[in-house]
Amino acid sequence: MPVDGFLRDVTAMRKEAVRLVEDLLAIPTPNPPGANYAAMVDALERVLRDWDVPVRRFDPPGVPPSSRTNLIATWGSGRRTLHFHGHYDVVPVFREEQFVPRRQEGRLYGRGSADMKGGLVAMLLALRVLQGTGLPDGGRLILTLVPDEETGGTYGTAALLTAGLEVQGGAGMLMPEPTGGVIWHACRGALTVEITVRGRPAHVGMAAEGVNAFEGMVRAAGAVLALKGRVAARHGTMLVGGRTGGGASFNVVPDRCWFTVDRRFEPSEGLNLARQEIMDALDGVRREGVDIEVTVLQEAPAAAVPLESPLIRTLAGVIAEVTGRPPRVEPCPGVLEIRFFAQRGVPAVCYGPGDLEVSHGPEEYVEMERILQTAAIYAETTLRMLAPR
Ligand SMILES: [Zn+2]
Repeated sequence: MPVDGFLRDVTAMRKEAVRLVEDLLAIPTPNPPGANYAAMVDALERVLRDWDVPVRRFDPPGVPPSSRTNLIATWGSGRRTLHFHGHYDVVPVFREEQFVPRRQEGRLYGRGSADMKGGLVAMLLALRVLQGTGLPDGGRLILTLVPDEETGGTYGTAALLTAGLEVQGGAGMLMPEPTGGVIWHACRGALTVEITVRGRPAHVGMAAEGVNAFEGMVRAAGAVLALKGRVAARHGTMLVGGRTGGGASFNVVPDRCWFTVDRRFEPSEGLNLARQEIMDALDGVRREGVDIEVTVLQEAPAAAVPLESPLIRTLAGVIAEVTGRPPRVEPCPGVLEIRFFAQRGVPAVCYGPGDLEVSHGPEEYVEMERILQTAAIYAETTLRMLAPR
């Protein structure tokens, strides 16, 4: 099997790889708030420069310099491009000790080990062993390492693809989210809104003079909740009232009450439908005289790559050779950055060494063996995707 050579090469780098994962785990990059990004970027850049990989920084407009740096490493000079893409921020910890890496029975424990510093190292190793074989003529590998994925990607991938990197025409994008051995080829979109109902305050003794915002909110919430059955029938989800608040005191008619709606929709539903349904429901309540204001907190379209695309067929074939069985190909229940690439016509999927079950949890870990396997899989997939056709 051609991939055996890559497996041998990455296994020979095992010690170096463990150290690299531990180095990254020991730099805490919790987001929010987005801490220690500069130190992380320095560490990643140093590795790439040590390997003579051309690397440049992209600092997004609108934030202080070096506070939200994206790294872009390019290997090869051809036009046919494969993208490796990963985020270096992690979710906040349960205990500070999660920022102290720990080894146990082939596992590396620490915040971000599964999501996705272990995955970053898999991509780096893949790039390293590809330096040994070289890329096919006309091929190019671009590795992007970004901040802010865990909070929507505004100053990471969104800014990078708007102003820092042209990706149109790319042959594909691979991202090592913790997929637990399956390929995620699609992701749900997200629409999160805050719905505020306005009233008029009045003391309880003169309640009739006021307009009770809470009563209006109950009607608005009821209208949105009435959509639940329809949404569920299409396999979307809707969380109403994840956060809510309002009112000044128990004896004052509230002049303002609010609640959130978090809607996750399937690629087949789409953002427009998700938005329109909620707006129509609220318009009905407005017509009854309730003063409603909607603030959009988050809007992310869904994405899906066709199962028969060359990227999925190639990646699945290589995974089967390495692991002994073909992987399942499934949609991800969450929101993924593959959407940014898919929107620009680049087939984008996730496959990574970590498990979703432990990601974001108090005992997050990744298996070292899976990092090495993933590195070999990424390297071989790159050669096949960039082969002249
Ligand atoms: Zn992630």
